Amino acid sequence: MYFEIYTTERSRKDPRKAFRRFPSVRRTGKNMYRIQAEERKERKIRRICRRRHYELKRIYPENLGRSDHYRRDFFSYYPRPLGGYRCRYCHRRIPDKRLCIDHIYPIYRTKTGNDFWLRLLRIEDVNDVRNLAPACRRCNTKKGRNAGIWVLRAILGRYEAYWVLRKVCFVALVVGLVFLLNFFS
Ligand SMILES: [Zn+2]
Repeated sequence: MYFEIYTTERSRKDPRKAFRRFPSVRRTGKNMYRIQAEERKERKIRRICRRRHYELKRIYPENLGRSDHYRRDFFSYYPRPLGGYRCRYCHRRIPDKRLCIDHIYPIYRTKTGNDFWLRLLRIEDVNDVRNLAPACRRCNTKKGRNAGIWVLRAILGRYEAYWVLRKVCFVALVVGLVFLLNFFS
């Protein structure tokens, strides 16, 4: 299990020290820490939180949280294409330094108990390579915690035919508009 812990204004000690008996404590955000421990350690963790004024925000199984090796898995499953990766959402080429590995179905949703899409796609682990996609920073930020249409876009974006079709539709639309404008003027 993952135990997500937040420091509060009253907490003084670094959680990595307070939980020194748990070697898996990791800092995951500004005030956020994560401990990986067995389910039965919950009482102990709660006790330390109470004493040290941390907030135990949520507890969720490992398969619904960010793994330490998802980037490695991604690169071995999707080797770098010639010229670099393309963003799954906008099809732009991404310079290697600015490449984001996006969790198509976002972790925020799974760890807060919503795994609708994962079940629909029959994916058990949120870090499964099928749930990972290359993304540019702009799309990654824009997407944030959204799912829905973004999940569809990530699935379709894998296919070159989708991008060709999009272009064809766009050209057809422009030609149609020009034609209509000519017709009415
Ligand atoms: Zn993009």
